Amino acid sequence: MKALTFHGKEDIQFTSLEDPSIVMPGDAIVRISACAICGSDLHVYHEREKGIEHGTAMGHEFTGEIVEIGKDVRTFRPGDKVMSPFTTSCGRCFYCKLGLSCRCLNGQLFGWIEHGKGLHGGQAEYVRVPLADSTLMKVPEGVSHEEAILLGDVLSTGFFCARQAEVKPNGVYAVVGCGPVGLMAVVAAREFGAENLFAIDVVPERMAKAREFGAIPIDASKQQPAEIIHEATEGRGADGMMEAVGSHSAVRLAFELVRPGGVVSSVGVCNDEHLAFSPVDAYNKNLTYRIGRCPARSVMEQLIPLVQRRKYNLGSIFTHRMKLEEGRQGYEIFAGKKDHCLKVLLEP
Ligand code: NAD
Ligand code: ZN
Repeated sequence: MKALTFHGKEDIQFTSLEDPSIVMPGDAIVRISACAICGSDLHVYHEREKGIEHGTAMGHEFTGEIVEIGKDVRTFRPGDKVMSPFTTSCGRCFYCKLGLSCRCLNGQLFGWIEHGKGLHGGQAEYVRVPLADSTLMKVPEGVSHEEAILLGDVLSTGFFCARQAEVKPNGVYAVVGCGPVGLMAVVAAREFGAENLFAIDVVPERMAKAREFGAIPIDASKQQPAEIIHEATEGRGADGMMEAVGSHSAVRLAFELVRPGGVVSSVGVCNDEHLAFSPVDAYNKNLTYRIGRCPARSVMEQLIPLVQRRKYNLGSIFTHRMKLEEGRQGYEIFAGKKDHCLKVLLEP
């Protein structure tokens, strides 16, 4: 089969890989109908995260059709259209039962092979999905490819970010970063009832999308976020900050803008060695800081009605639709935010 494989810093190639086959009795093989490039793929692309082997198929956002199942798979049959969270999970361990499927004791991240172990990703013609019964979900009626892909990662992550920030109708909140994840956090915060919701970035079309989804954009290159947030809160700071970037400066900004006793919810993947604030900074603000990978499998089901209601045109964040073979260019465009790119959909 063909796949987009990793070959070092900013080197993604369209290459041939052996077709995946059933390894464990709980596996399913999915023929990919569409996949997407995530901001998390950019950490690999720019080599901010080390360890992934050259030749690994990239990607963890995909949807497709089951073509083969292992003998223990009960829920699915060949021909079923499925969507997937970005990690596999068993549904039975302590963490799965807790609703933290991202920490499943038997789980793996798609698109990550290190020291010969791990899983190829979904930016390919086919992908092997272990623990298929508890990982995959059937694509519900009326849910498009684009929406199925968003459910498996960025919509779930945006929701998780807003939930961690304890968003309520009467508070003042801000999202740092209006990439796909930040925009989905805007949507989720609106769904939690947020009326006073700001969204900070520097890219005009991303801020325009944040406005369309119901936030007040703040252009950090022209405006002072602190001034605006303080004006909205009698000088206190925001009740909750949602950070969806993954950098020191973004976390620092979130910390500076939150009020004493408020919450900073971080879903950005930051590969720094230290936090952007010190223990005494946190102490002096009575800060609640929540951070981590989204348990997409544990939350995506409850987001299906939001997608089906179509109040927000979620699919509109896919600004670019390309063939899988053009994936290298897709990465260049998405990473460089070229051509007003917000998110790239790839079709084999
Ligand atoms: P993206 O790179 O498309 O978006 C990031 C946005 O942040 C861009 O619009 C950029 O202009 C903006 N930005 C950068 N620095 C900023 C700053 N200092 N202040 C304000 N805005 C700033 O990525 P994405 O797909 O939206 O993903 C965002 C982050 O979420 C990434 O770090 C990704 O790895 C992470 N992520 C985490 C999870 C999880 O489970 N926690 C899941 C998916 C993605
Ligand atoms: Zn992702």
